[in-house]
Amino acid sequence: MLLTALVIIVVVAYIVESLLDHLNQGTAWNPLDKKIAHLYDEKERAKSIAYSAEKTQFGFISATFSTVLMILALTYGWFAKLDEFVREQVTNQIQISLIFIAALGVISWLINLPFALYGIFRIEAKYGFNKTTLKTFFADALKGSLVAVLFGGALLTVLLWLYQELQSGFWISAWVVITAFSLFMFMFGTKLILPLFNKLKPLPEGELKAEIQRYCASQGYSINRLFVMDGSKRSTKANAFFSGLGRSKTIVLFDTLIEKLSTKEIVAVLAHEIGHYKKKHTFSMFIFSLVQSFGTFALLGWLLNYPELSTALGAQQQSFHISALAFFILFTPLSILLGLINNSWSRHNEFESDTFAAQTYEVAPMRSALEKISTDSLANLSPHPLYVAFNYTHPTLLQRINNVERK
Ligand SMILES: [Zn+2]
Repeated sequence: MLLTALVIIVVVAYIVESLLDHLNQGTAWNPLDKKIAHLYDEKERAKSIAYSAEKTQFGFISATFSTVLMILALTYGWFAKLDEFVREQVTNQIQISLIFIAALGVISWLINLPFALYGIFRIEAKYGFNKTTLKTFFADALKGSLVAVLFGGALLTVLLWLYQELQSGFWISAWVVITAFSLFMFMFGTKLILPLFNKLKPLPEGELKAEIQRYCASQGYSINRLFVMDGSKRSTKANAFFSGLGRSKTIVLFDTLIEKLSTKEIVAVLAHEIGHYKKKHTFSMFIFSLVQSFGTFALLGWLLNYPELSTALGAQQQSFHISALAFFILFTPLSILLGLINNSWSRHNEFESDTFAAQTYEVAPMRSALEKISTDSLANLSPHPLYVAFNYTHPTLLQRINNVERK
């Protein structure tokens, strides 16, 4: 019964995702509003559509493959078999869970590997975006797994120990531990983790820095942590982001952004990032994510009282890792719903930040920066509204231009 429900959830989530992709493909050739119609000539528009079509079709193949695999794993009790195998090797409960989760991580990484390689080295490369070498790709994977083992392993051990001691009542203390850890990463993540993957350099003296300093002074924003990151090591796509809290607040500009945009456009992008800080977006979204994880942990704690969660996957006995796995599948509909809310809120914040930049700096460079960043990455200029609702953390280019011009 529960197993059937899990399979249905996996299938329905797959259908919803595929349907959204299909709808989005359907609007690819829709006529563009006159405000953005001139941004692509016919050839570029065709290239942009081919790029998203290729990504969508490949995403469909990869999603079909992993969905079929998941259904097989559920119905044939593969998770229970892995659990039994681990139990034959070690007896300590915490070790069993750690090894099970690590094994699952390695297996899913290996399954995803060909898809990741094809996506980067065939599709991204074909459209001229890829800059990653195989060496960088595998070095990233190695560093990523070291970070995961170090931080994830330590965190999981604490959570598993709490569960062993407190059983299903573990969730409040587990949430406190997770909250403390997230707060730490939120404040120091860019300082500790990012330099493992990228080189961060202070912005050199010059016209750009002078203009940035002038703008920041006008806003009373003390910019002690402004970095240029070698994004060009992996992709030609331009980007910028804000992170941190209080004195750890950091703005990172990709070198690709600096290369492609004019001084004024870069300052407009920076103003947008400062807008996220001034409007307390990063902080409020962080708080909201804590509220969500509180609810998730409460639900997990409650459902861990039911051994059916483990036995539904074919396990002989209840265990934290098998039950948690079943829980996360059960949680899928809710997580899709939460995704809708989070994305909608994020798009609202992006509007606010664009407005902030337009009001405190200038409209024209904000607008042209948005246009350049979108067209340079061959963005789909006519996405389906439903697809946007489910998948976009940023509003569409047309919506952003309309918003900026209203100011
Ligand atoms: Zn933003």
